Amino acid sequence: MSGWQGLLKEYAAWFDLAGVDEVVTLQEGNTPLLRADRLSERLGAHVWLKFEGVNPTGSFKDRGMTMAITKAKAHGATKVICGSTGNTSAAAAAYAAKAGLECVVLVPEGKIALGKLAQAMVYGATVLQIRGNFDQALDLARELTQHLPITIVNSINPDRIEGQKTGAFEIVDVLGRAPDILAIPVGNAGNITAYWRGFLQYYEAHRSTSLPRMWGFQAAGAAPIVLGHPVANPETIASAIRIGNPASWVPALEVVHESHGDIRAVTDDDILDAYRYVARYESVFCEPASAASVAGVLKFGVPEGATVVCVLTGNGLKDPDTALSSSARPPVVDATLEALMSELGG
Ligand SMILES: *Cc1c(COP(=O)(O)O)cnc(C)c1O
Repeated sequence: MSGWQGLLKEYAAWFDLAGVDEVVTLQEGNTPLLRADRLSERLGAHVWLKFEGVNPTGSFKDRGMTMAITKAKAHGATKVICGSTGNTSAAAAAYAAKAGLECVVLVPEGKIALGKLAQAMVYGATVLQIRGNFDQALDLARELTQHLPITIVNSINPDRIEGQKTGAFEIVDVLGRAPDILAIPVGNAGNITAYWRGFLQYYEAHRSTSLPRMWGFQAAGAAPIVLGHPVANPETIASAIRIGNPASWVPALEVVHESHGDIRAVTDDDILDAYRYVARYESVFCEPASAASVAGVLKFGVPEGATVVCVLTGNGLKDPDTALSSSARPPVVDATLEALMSELGG
């Protein structure tokens, strides 16, 4: 057999896989690092897009889920649970199905993108919509693990962070070095923590000679880390980062400190502008939350000539509602040559 075998096999040396005799994989990872010509020109820098939307379930969550489900299975779990803004539930449901485990997902009612809900349902998870927000869903998932024999696979599960560090490995493997700046959306703050761990491990093993500054971006209506206090009712169009009390808040602050980085806020308008821009000028259709990374570098600028990687965390197809509502409706015309000619200015 040849070809990409999935993260746990390709990067086996970087993980503790003691007790694991069967890896649960959908051949996640190995995602494109695209050179962004227009953005590079606009910013006077070398800008790359790490497009995580082509993972098996359409987001970077698959990197953490291959590890979390592999370990859960190795430890004899039969059931997993997560609270989710959508993508975690899609990934958990898919990997649980592959492993033959039951999966329960708690999502905030009416607050997750349509495609993500569809994924969890079709992969066969037990989906419960709670009358509450993501933070409450996560708290309840945690509490349930005290009462039921069930393993939590949110990013508070350390196996998730371990798997997700591979995003950093792949970037260095392609560029031959760490970027000067890694721009990334921040919700629960697990991914910024994971990327930093990956960059550090490669640096310590002399796979790279430098470390990036870590620039995290929250949505302005859901920016607890920027504000310095939890947000009771987070609001943003970027539903994947609509989180008021991040689980990895403290680790994320350490990342910012150690990397001389920053976590800043971008508005929904900034996010939607960036979302349309990367689609139109870089041909990448990401979801709104993902575009926070690009919105951030466009808003705050980058040092001239810097090498910048923006992580685009998920696939735009997951959120058709935002795609349609942020574009003009296509006109309907008669099925005649005349009507088309008149519409197209012929
Ligand atoms: C989960 C998610 C994020 C946020 O990642 P955190 O680890 O929670 O900070 C950003 N974008 C997308 C598309 C996500 O699914």
